[in-house]
Amino acid sequence: MSAEIIKQNPFQSMIDRFNIAADILKLDESIRQKLQRPEKQIVVNFSITLDNGSEQNFEGYRVIHNTALGPSKGGIRYDNAVNLDEVKALAAWMTWKSAVTGIPFGGAKGGIICDPKTLSKTELERITRAYTKALADIFGPEKDVPAPDMGTGPDEMGWLMDEFSLVHGKTIHAVVTGKHLHSGGSLGRVEATGRGVSIITLLALEKLKIRPARSTAAIQGFGNVGLHSALFLYEKGVKIVAVSDVSEAFFNPDGINIPELILYYNLNNKTIKGYPNSVAIKHEELLFLDVDVLIPAAKEDVITKKNANDVRAKIIIEAANGPVSSDADEILQGKNVLVVPDILANAGGVTVSYFEWLQNSLLESWRIHQINKRLEDILEKGFETVFRVSAKYDVSPRIAAYIIALKKVAETQSVKEVAL
Ligand code: GLU
Repeated sequence: MSAEIIKQNPFQSMIDRFNIAADILKLDESIRQKLQRPEKQIVVNFSITLDNGSEQNFEGYRVIHNTALGPSKGGIRYDNAVNLDEVKALAAWMTWKSAVTGIPFGGAKGGIICDPKTLSKTELERITRAYTKALADIFGPEKDVPAPDMGTGPDEMGWLMDEFSLVHGKTIHAVVTGKHLHSGGSLGRVEATGRGVSIITLLALEKLKIRPARSTAAIQGFGNVGLHSALFLYEKGVKIVAVSDVSEAFFNPDGINIPELILYYNLNNKTIKGYPNSVAIKHEELLFLDVDVLIPAAKEDVITKKNANDVRAKIIIEAANGPVSSDADEILQGKNVLVVPDILANAGGVTVSYFEWLQNSLLESWRIHQINKRLEDILEKGFETVFRVSAKYDVSPRIAAYIIALKKVAETQSVKEVAL
């Protein structure tokens, strides 16, 4: 991403919004402290043998933010920029995400500092197994249940399940979600976050009385989430005029043919670089296009106080975790941009993870239409509740989502009702 973007600490963004919601809820200091701080933060160091025979050391994290509502749940990120503050913020967002959507999980997140693009499959397997072994006492179907995040997918989840099962001497499918179908994965999980983003986008368009077939969108990021969001919205008639990945950003005012782009991406080593039928633009320009919907589906802090004024979209759907930093909130609100927060907008992933965990625990396998229907019901209900609270207390949808989540977790944690 652009070097002009000044990073705000994502944990600080979480705390800023937390404090606004906690003030409205009049939460006392002791419960605030409890809910801000993670229950556990684990740092592991391990080494593996690389394919060239040399040994390399890696540092990994697992942060368990809160378990009041159930076993902690959250992905594992493989990225060179992973650090403890980022993992702490991501873990807290998982707690609020499950609470907003009514899923009986707490929040956690993990990460390993590494660049998965430069590691071979066998090296990634050794890293995943070593990380799992180091955390074998932490993970568990009723304790802490990992899932994919940036840089990880069904392969890593399959290795994790296998290693965990080896350590415990029996097959334990429900220890991790986002697995391949043959390892006990769920139908619909790979596409779930993108499907959820598209469901939420359509609801937001409806709120502003914009017909999908007459709307335009720009999508930053073409990983699992960006790609599927683009595909499902394209299928609903939304004109996707710009997309980007780390290598390139491009624009086509007539709309990009997303199925064709996906084909190109799959044949082109999983990058959109060099795709014809469009004009290359600067990465940051994508954020400032005159579109109805802007979908940041890459990383944290891409919209900050430095560039929020240049945003021209009517709606921002936070498909990534934390793409808008808290110092941009007021500016966007002043410009009347409808921001649907990450903890609702990208909750489709953890929702279908919950279905996978349930199927594993019940030894069931559900059909795709059942899964998609339940996903839609949960997200629609979450959206309605967030907008009801937002209108009632005259706060942004983000603060409304925090209010709902904090109230729920605080009541469970302190076993007393929070007045509101
Ligand atoms: N990593 C995803 C997220 O940030 C999915 C987490 C999960 O399925 O547990 O929501």
